[in-house]
Amino acid sequence: MGTSDLVFRLGGDEFLIASIARRDRNAPRRFAQGILNLLKSPLELNQIDFVVRASIGISLCLEPGLDVEQLVNDADLAMYQAKANGGNCIRVYRLSMREQLDFVTKTVHRLRKSIELKQLELHYQLQFELCPPYRPSGLEALLRWRDHENNYIAPEIFIPLAEEHGLMPEINKWVLSRACEDNKVLISEGLLDVAVAVNICGRFFAQDDFVALVSTTLSRVALPVSRLEVEVTETIAIHDVSRAVDTIIALHDIGVEVAIDDFGAGYFSLKLLKSLPVDRLKIDKLFISDFPNNAFDKAVVQAVLNIAKSVGVQVVAEGVETLEQANALREQGCQFGQGYWYSKPLSIDDLKEALKNNHIFGQRCL
Ligand code: C2E
Ligand code: MG
Ligand code: MG
Repeated sequence: MGTSDLVFRLGGDEFLIASIARRDRNAPRRFAQGILNLLKSPLELNQIDFVVRASIGISLCLEPGLDVEQLVNDADLAMYQAKANGGNCIRVYRLSMREQLDFVTKTVHRLRKSIELKQLELHYQLQFELCPPYRPSGLEALLRWRDHENNYIAPEIFIPLAEEHGLMPEINKWVLSRACEDNKVLISEGLLDVAVAVNICGRFFAQDDFVALVSTTLSRVALPVSRLEVEVTETIAIHDVSRAVDTIIALHDIGVEVAIDDFGAGYFSLKLLKSLPVDRLKIDKLFISDFPNNAFDKAVVQAVLNIAKSVGVQVVAEGVETLEQANALREQGCQFGQGYWYSKPLSIDDLKEALKNNHIFGQRCL
């Protein structure tokens, strides 16, 4: 540090360094790197080594007319970016950081409002047997959200935000309830009689009252237990495998089956597969999009099918978009498929209409 540099403590573990870099725009970054290098060596206190880490945010005043408050706010935002990126690193403020923050704040606010006003929607995508008689074998409930301009926002955008801001348990609760109610109607009206699969995020699955909630929802709706399936990813076992196993066993005890979603795409290991007593694997669409022409994908699909067969687990291929894929999957021994080739996700009204008229899927399966 030079003699013209100032250090302030903002509060807690937040410090502010004001430094005059003059013409060299890279000087602040080098300066910050120097701080990180200094902190690398442990500090000894009472014969115990302490390692201090730092997340450093930098904002540069490039033009005359210094707005100190704005500079501090910008540096603060860059510092939070550094923290979000794992900490012990440096981030320089950019306008896009504030734009991203504004987007997140507004989106989360609107999502919260939509939950309150019960404006979320569920669409349903059918799964099919790949072999004769090619019957529908299941139904997946997929969340849909229209923003204030009535445009659908992709689940890949709003679900991670909902997870980050603690909204997912409430959303999952609503999805579970709505999916059971809609499936009950499909069964009662004699339109379809399969299990509805509900995507459940890791945090909700880990809640103490999750299985009790599933059970009371099924009783309230009077949906047969075999007509609900829980779909999860490997995130259920990230923190505690034995707890995830207990929850799956408790679901089995009440008669609800469990599928592993996006199999092959995440961090799901074969060790995890050995531990978790699941009923179904859904091969991620990543391996189906170039299947059967891509040799690697073909080998992955075959390997998953072989493992599943030997441990008595069913397999559903996701993202089946062509007849060629459906035929090749059947030839390789896959039992079930889901994808645009058969049907896109549909609103409950459109699904009922399609089932009544027996159209869209019929000829696709022949
Ligand atoms: P997912 O559970 O793996 O769902 C399958 C996704 O693949 C859906 O995307 C579906 O629309 C899409 N898809 C189906 N067939 C095809 C196909 O032939 N080709 C291609 N390219 N895509 C196909 P969607 O609806 O956008 O959902 C994305 C993800 O968001 C879901 O992936 C799931 O992880 C998550 N999600 C959706 N609804 C819920 C929900 O209610 N709760 C939770 N926790 N997550 C949900
Ligand atoms: Mg799914
Ligand atoms: Mg999936």
